[in-house]
Amino acid sequence: MTNRSKKSALKVQQGVAQPSSINSDALQQIRQNKSAALSTAQLVDGILAGNIALLSKAITLIESTLSVHQTQAQEVLAACLPHAGTSMRVGITGVPGVGKSSFIEALGSHLTAKNHRVAVLAIDPSSLRTKGSILGDKTRMESLAADARAYIRPSPASGTLGGVAKKTWESIILCEAAGFDTIFVETVGVGQSETLVHSMVDFFLLLMMPGAGDELQGIKRGIMEMADAIVINKADGNNIARANAAKMDYQNALHLYPPADSGWIPQVALCSAMENTGIAEVWNIVEDYVKFTTDNTYFHQKRTDQNLQLMHQALKDLLLTDFYQNEEIKANILKIEQEIHQKKISAYNAAQSLSNLYHALLKKG
Ligand code: GDP
Repeated sequence: MTNRSKKSALKVQQGVAQPSSINSDALQQIRQNKSAALSTAQLVDGILAGNIALLSKAITLIESTLSVHQTQAQEVLAACLPHAGTSMRVGITGVPGVGKSSFIEALGSHLTAKNHRVAVLAIDPSSLRTKGSILGDKTRMESLAADARAYIRPSPASGTLGGVAKKTWESIILCEAAGFDTIFVETVGVGQSETLVHSMVDFFLLLMMPGAGDELQGIKRGIMEMADAIVINKADGNNIARANAAKMDYQNALHLYPPADSGWIPQVALCSAMENTGIAEVWNIVEDYVKFTTDNTYFHQKRTDQNLQLMHQALKDLLLTDFYQNEEIKANILKIEQEIHQKKISAYNAAQSLSNLYHALLKKG
């Protein structure tokens, strides 16, 4: 366990009771020796049986940078893929302090009470840059963390944003294969990670709060445009009048945006995570969206498009890695960088010459 995760108050939930007959060998292995390598089959069987300990172990493999772990992670993923795709994926964003964790706790508990199984994944761009993190360093979602039908996984703590997005998408697949029918992907609304989250979920929810001085609370127009619902939290106590006014403002603002590809008109709703009001209504909006976009086939189309995008992104990553890890390329990049420095070659010609070298190396085999 890293220092960061030791300090973090975010609990990773044990989840539903372990099925006794399944994977007892694997569980014993985990208990005896936490670092023991489990076989791909053990992990896959465990995940498909809804075993949270093994799901966590597989997500840890996904997050690992060791190539042996990556190889096994990809094997587990491939075996789980046919069992995935069955959940509702909801992205939730909002500025720090808006009430994301309180809201996810309230909505998550509402759903687990209705027998849903809820997984919460997070993308926290701040944890990639600094030791601390906005999402992880405080007590969050305590009751959901103790809920046997919920699983909470903190944001991967290292890597590039693109890398973290890939890990999150792969974690979604594993959670779905483990039987979670609702996946929340939470991110901090500070502008870097929303597009990534939007590209991997079915429904994108922007959480706002009433008043707070400026109406848009630093949320960029582009993020508002991505929202399928704007939910104004903290609509309680003295805030109610301001919350209603904010609702009108957002409804008016949304009218100015071009219609979404889905044909769906983004909804504005009020809730109080603290008083647990308006929560069921928010979920009704999500269900209405699913029905609307299933009927007009957009839901399926969007998932297909997302998969294609992921494939192209993964392909670019693979090709770039292959290029930059090639020993001859590495040596020539240094040389060419010096030539650029000495103004002997233009940047474009330098890139062209490296690309030509790469093609020649490929031909040579
Ligand atoms: P996050 O940073 O977006 O995850 O926000 P938190 O869930 O940690 O909430 C930030 C603060 O707002 C905390 O002090 C909460 O108690 C408070 N809060 C959250 N939801 C509500 C709500 O519905 N009403 C009120 N009045 N306060 C809330």
